[in-house]
Amino acid sequence: SGALYLVATPIGNLEDMTYRAVRILREADCIAAEDTRQTRKLLSHFGIHTRLVSYHEHNKQASGPELVRLMRDEGQLIALVSDAGLPAISDPGADLARLAVEAEVPVIPVPGANAALTGLIASGLPTDSFVFLGFPPRERKDLRQALERLQTAPETMLFYESPHRVEKTLEAMAETLGEERRICLARELTKRYEEFTRGTIAECLQHLAEHPPQGEYVLIVEGASAEARLAAANAWWEQLSLEDHVA
Ligand code: SAM
Repeated sequence: SGALYLVATPIGNLEDMTYRAVRILREADCIAAEDTRQTRKLLSHFGIHTRLVSYHEHNKQASGPELVRLMRDEGQLIALVSDAGLPAISDPGADLARLAVEAEVPVIPVPGANAALTGLIASGLPTDSFVFLGFPPRERKDLRQALERLQTAPETMLFYESPHRVEKTLEAMAETLGEERRICLARELTKRYEEFTRGTIAECLQHLAEHPPQGEYVLIVEGASAEARLAAANAWWEQLSLEDHVA
């Protein structure tokens, strides 16, 4: 019977492709790819000749149900890949996984590289509890609101960011989380110019002012300290008792 394989691909370094990923991509009836041109390069590097179809943000409404039909009714094995890393993480795929689950088609993950976790483990920040937040909102107001909600969160925070916006995002973080919060900018992971910039938000902003941002970034931000959370709780109580006095 059919199945959906969610296959990880490298985030830069082709040596991070797994043996299993190569085998599954060879054996699948077809590979659904976010960008067929990009994936064709990867496939030719590994000598994979499986048929490619496209599955991306703009055709997934139509192509999702058709792929599910092929798996459920025709027993096809379909492998889904995105441009890099794990499909369904800030990439198309989650919808197809949901449709497959609903149709009782087996969904089989084939793990491998992922930018957020790769950045996290080398950040030097706590890894015991963290939240993945994907790309921060683009609008300044929405960005500030999202960060304000995270002001007292104790977990390490993981974001994806483009080189064009990384400074603006750090500025908003300095204003909402405080410029003393520790952060790690993980750039071009697994690639030739892989770089980690670690320090306070203020120090990292200084670094970006001197070295204009380039390439892809994961931002790993320290969670709120116990003192910061206590201070926030105290402020909240104070405000509450002030309101009592007013009433
Ligand atoms: N599905 C992917 C994964 O599992 O990591 C994420 C896809 S998302 C559309 C792309 C974003 O991931 C980039 O904008 C960047 O923030 C981050 N990213 C991907 N590759 C990276 C790399 N080699 N170094 C740093 N960040 C990377």
